[in-house]
Amino acid sequence: MSKDIIIEKLEVKDIRFPTSKQKDGSDAMHTDPDYSCAYVILHTNSDIKGYGLTFTLGKGTEIVVTAVRALQYHVIGKYTNYIFNNFASVWRSITSDSQLRWIGPEKGVIHLATAAIINALWDLWARIEKKPVWKLLIDLTPEQLVSTIDFRYITDVITKQEAIELLKKEIPNKQEREKELIKNGYPAYTTQVGWLGYSDEKIKSLCKEYLSKGFNAFKIKVGQNLNNDINRCRLVRECIGFDNYLMVDANQVWDVNEAIEWMKKLAEFKPTWIEEPTAPDDILGHTTIARAMDEYNIGVATGEMCANRVIFKQLLQNKAITYCQIDSARVGGINELLSIYLMAKKLGVKVCPHAGGVGLCEMVQHLQYWDYISLTGTYEGKWIEYVDQQHEHFKHPVTVINGRYMPGKEPGYSCEMFDETFKKNEFPNGEVWKNQ
Ligand SMILES: [Mg+2]
Repeated sequence: MSKDIIIEKLEVKDIRFPTSKQKDGSDAMHTDPDYSCAYVILHTNSDIKGYGLTFTLGKGTEIVVTAVRALQYHVIGKYTNYIFNNFASVWRSITSDSQLRWIGPEKGVIHLATAAIINALWDLWARIEKKPVWKLLIDLTPEQLVSTIDFRYITDVITKQEAIELLKKEIPNKQEREKELIKNGYPAYTTQVGWLGYSDEKIKSLCKEYLSKGFNAFKIKVGQNLNNDINRCRLVRECIGFDNYLMVDANQVWDVNEAIEWMKKLAEFKPTWIEEPTAPDDILGHTTIARAMDEYNIGVATGEMCANRVIFKQLLQNKAITYCQIDSARVGGINELLSIYLMAKKLGVKVCPHAGGVGLCEMVQHLQYWDYISLTGTYEGKWIEYVDQQHEHFKHPVTVINGRYMPGKEPGYSCEMFDETFKKNEFPNGEVWKNQ
């Protein structure tokens, strides 16, 4: 690692796409999202830059941008080798800033801002090493990898030493798995078929399209109207049959008992999981729902809006989730996500990442490749979410072939956008927004 790279400047942009016009991304809770992101560029004294982002839905992105600016002094002027050799303590300095933590701590806007900065740091690190982030992660020794994690609040479930042991055990299998993954890719499921604002005709043609593209798992949005949900589930099952997988996602609209009653009515369609049945903070509520769903063989999934590793720890400890849906732009970025993967491994829960949005597929694939190669070694009952939107804005977008994510070789975290996108989509002065 080069010793003299210094982060000289942090640039942060408010980038928005007017997706609400087509109802792309619409669900029971978020009926008109404009997919957006707070986008961070780390400038150094070399020609290497770091790119990272956190995903937002339009309004409020300017607040995340302001929070990034408030945190930036933690990285500006720092040597990269200092940061990456002391990553857990740098991460803690950001998340435990003695004044800024009051507006979190480790949740909400300030933690989204943390994720954008941390993601940019990992992208920078990988570019310095000339590796994609997934390869950087698998090439770190267990000790190095674990040294990036702040274990505060989770040692009752996993200690640093246990994490190292979990990773060490898998070392003999890594080479073979890496080869196999590069050849075959990682399973994906699609959410493209079932946004809540889509017509029946659109759903049918999308099911057909994604079946022909090799997908075997399909997710639809539910939760606004029970009869509509029954009809939509029936429609999708008619299109995909019962040999393929169906997942349903309520995006937090229900009370706990309402979730149970509603899902009993959808049980005949045999969904693999009910996603975000209720509030993301309600660990005991998820537990109640999960136990009620056991007899129907329906799993419970959540995570895309879980604030931090403590919420995940309790969800995992309580067997409140069957599928752990980490999100690459939430919690405090990769460092904290690694700790969640390690807890999930220890407690035997599958990680099926949330993706879509802006750049989430691009980023999260790296983590799931690492999980497969270095930690769990199985695809069984596991997929990465795939949504076919906004990929064209990235220099190295995901490659999904025959329903599988194919690992790329380009250095970084795959979230560098084209300058053209910055120009057109920066809010409020980009071309796209000026004429709204
Ligand atoms: Mg969801």
